[in-house]
Amino acid sequence: MKKEVRKMTESNLIDDCLFCKIIRGEIPSYTVFENDDVKAFLDISQVNEGHVLMVPKKHLVNFFDYEKADAERFLKYIPEIARAIKKSNDKITGMNITSNNGEVAGQVVMHSHIHFIPRWEGDGIKF
Ligand code: IMP
Repeated sequence: MKKEVRKMTESNLIDDCLFCKIIRGEIPSYTVFENDDVKAFLDISQVNEGHVLMVPKKHLVNFFDYEKADAERFLKYIPEIARAIKKSNDKITGMNITSNNGEVAGQVVMHSHIHFIPRWEGDGIKF
């Protein structure tokens, strides 16, 4: 069953999508977490040190595109990834976990992704 799901997911990846290419390994990324469902890698233009993006291994444009099953399958990894990033650096005491959905909301890459932006006292980041 798991294999079938994976096959279906991979066939859904599309040619001209940047994050589909990263999932397929055609564009290199610094991966911090990966399984059959999601991949998490360092953002190329970090808002703060350790800024990670998590993407589903299924081409969903953004949350408006998610069925309930997609949400259950992909979003459950958020706490685990957040904890792994926090554990990687003692100075991290907080984290912004955000997602831009739609161009008007600042979404540039049209493959759903979640930003994990580590925070600490005095990091100077302003949202
Ligand atoms: P958005 O504005 O929410 O769509 O965020 C897209 C993110 O993708 C931005 O933070 C970019 O820095 C990041 N990004 C763009 N190209 C790459 C890449 O090749 N590798 C890793 N991150 C990327």
